[in-house]
Amino acid sequence: MTPQELLKTKFGYDSFRPGQQAVIDAILKHENVLTIMPTGGGKSLCYQIPALLLKGLTLVVSPLIALMKDQVDALNENGIPATFVNSSLDFSEINDRLNQAQAGAVKLLYVSPERLDSGAFAQLAALPIDLVAVDEAHCISQWGHDFRPSYLALTDRLKQLPTQPTIVALTATATPRVAEDIKTRLGITQEVKTGFQRDNLAFKVVKDQDSDRYLLDYLKLNADQSGIIYASTRKEVERLTKLLQKRHFSVTMYHGGLTPEQRRHNQEDFLYDRAQVMVATNAFGMGIDKSNVRFVIHDAVPGSLEAYYQEAGRAGRDGLPSEAILLFKLADVQTQHFFIDQSDRDEQSKQHEYEKLQMMSQYANTEQCLQQFILNYFGETGPKCGRCSNCLDTRESQDITVATQKVLSCVYRMHERFGKTLVAQVLAGSKDQKVTKMGFETLSTYGIMANQTKKAIAELIDYLTAAGYLLADGGQYPVLKITALGAAVLKGEQTVTRKVAVTATKSLPVNNE
Ligand code: ADP
Repeated sequence: MTPQELLKTKFGYDSFRPGQQAVIDAILKHENVLTIMPTGGGKSLCYQIPALLLKGLTLVVSPLIALMKDQVDALNENGIPATFVNSSLDFSEINDRLNQAQAGAVKLLYVSPERLDSGAFAQLAALPIDLVAVDEAHCISQWGHDFRPSYLALTDRLKQLPTQPTIVALTATATPRVAEDIKTRLGITQEVKTGFQRDNLAFKVVKDQDSDRYLLDYLKLNADQSGIIYASTRKEVERLTKLLQKRHFSVTMYHGGLTPEQRRHNQEDFLYDRAQVMVATNAFGMGIDKSNVRFVIHDAVPGSLEAYYQEAGRAGRDGLPSEAILLFKLADVQTQHFFIDQSDRDEQSKQHEYEKLQMMSQYANTEQCLQQFILNYFGETGPKCGRCSNCLDTRESQDITVATQKVLSCVYRMHERFGKTLVAQVLAGSKDQKVTKMGFETLSTYGIMANQTKKAIAELIDYLTAAGYLLADGGQYPVLKITALGAAVLKGEQTVTRKVAVTATKSLPVNNE
């Protein structure tokens, strides 16, 4: 049979999705290939069809132990002999299954990466493996957003397989840097990447609003729709779930602190539409294939744009219009910054985490089309989407370069050693004791924004921080520092714009106190 015929007879589909054919062709020519497709793009078929055409066994390495059974059941239902071995099975069951694989009774064997790294490797290495599919391959890269140490050993283990199988790596999230890393580690030279653009998703950023209020209003308006709300912590998931249930919304929850049975139960309630909305930490969602999710709302800022796009991308897998909403709060970013700071990572890895977090801030504050911003981040280009909150924002964009330069020079003159409140006071010309005691009233930037309130200046500083011109460094009492982008503004190499509703300013410089 040809791949096309198998697609029809085994899976019931008429045509390949973009990229699928190219990956299958490469595998059948025994060429190692990296497959980058968005969530829901149809990555699984890329190795499942070759698995049926190859003589030997296809080993699928997947970190999603909880989902292996479902994936294998789905294949078996299509008449495809597949099985899995993982820590949920006892020793004799595992042996039975491996014997089946040895005898050629199954075409696909799903395993977790840990299994390759354990004493059980010898058993696997003895199998007639023709193809290894490395799912969620970004987990192998320290530059990725979900690095898993257990994936690192893959590089060596795959080399030790006596059958020298073809390797296909699959992921939905790979920046050019992560893609390079995956290819180097797994000895891959080819890449099939399909467009990341999601024509049915409307991205929205909602800034500095009361999130509870927003969620309640949103659910009221979308009461009959299925959606996911991501919150930052288990505690927050529980609080939100209670809040929404009290208002009689059909809500369930998912986080790492629930028992496996509870998790499974709640997940199924959501999958089978017994509960409309899933409130979850980011532990929820990898590998979940629910097609009619109409909205994904992030009530917490994810640590990276990759993570955000992957989670947001769980909306609208059926191709119907859906929304991806980020409720952005600068304080969230600062808390995360603090946690990175306190973590026991090395300096380089901390720096890398800061940069990824900073990118989320820039996403939330860019005036560019949001879909375009994301595409550019993944090394792609595309037209304006016409659907995101920026494309639909009709407010005037104001040039605030001069005001920005004033703020930045003040930060500079205060030697980048103070926080927002004091900088705003100095710019506003405050006579606060702290200002005078430090002698800041002698600075040339003292009072140069006296026609604005301290509150407006503080908001401007927040905006400049979120947009990446300033960095609020440190935990509880962050100190403002000028970023490279900010330095370019000071040198007059970069302009700054901001969409703002026109607010009244005082017409004459007056004393702020
Ligand atoms: P991914 O792993 O890329 O997130 P999946 O492999 O789970 O995506 O596929 C997502 C959905 O698309 C599945 O329900 C799958 O059956 C379906 N699908 C895959 N390929 C095709 C195709 N060629 N035509 C129609 N549907 C497809």
